[in-house]
Amino acid sequence: MQLRCSYCQTMFAISRDEMLSALQYVTEEDLLYYDAHCPKCRRANRVERAKLQRAYPNWQEVLKEKAKEAAKTEKEAAKALKQEQSAAEAASASPEASELQAKTKKTVKKA
Ligand SMILES: [Zn+2]
Repeated sequence: MQLRCSYCQTMFAISRDEMLSALQYVTEEDLLYYDAHCPKCRRANRVERAKLQRAYPNWQEVLKEKAKEAAKTEKEAAKALKQEQSAAEAASASPEASELQAKTKKTVKKA
């Protein structure tokens, strides 16, 4: 999204990611404007929430997708950790299993 600083007339752009976090922010805080800071003079330029929404109409879907992906990654990481833990528990809980593992190791060493 292209903007023109109202103080120094510099043209600058807001990335999709910035727009997404801006939309999330104004919605959560229930604000009418987002302050986009000019890269040259650092002053805040007000961008209307409606203008942001018009420029990025499907932002809520994109945000949902991103949240879903993040949750999925978290879930998979937790699952992997759980599997590791239960494998370690199984090894320590059953002496037979660890014995078998030791035997297998010995066999491997011999070979
Ligand atoms: Zn400026």
